[in-house]
Amino acid sequence: MLGVGAAFLRAGGTAGAKDAKKYSQEEASYRNTPPGLETCRACSFFDEPRSCTVVEGTVSPEGWCKYFAHVE
Ligand code: SF4
Repeated sequence: MLGVGAAFLRAGGTAGAKDAKKYSQEEASYRNTPPGLETCRACSFFDEPRSCTVVEGTVSPEGWCKYFAHVE
């Protein structure tokens, strides 16, 4: 969970920061297919339909990165 906290801090630390810096897909080790059962669709950072609040660019609902966080 440390990585998730770091992601929040890097993203600006506050909700609604429009120019918040996001991780690049390379920094986040993003991939279009998950290594296990966790997918972006089930991540609390996923933003429908194809983006993420902490990772740049287009994000597939079936993708995954190292900042995955379970939806509470
Ligand atoms: S796993 Fe979560 S944090 Fe990572 S790219 Fe997908 S939605 Fe974003």
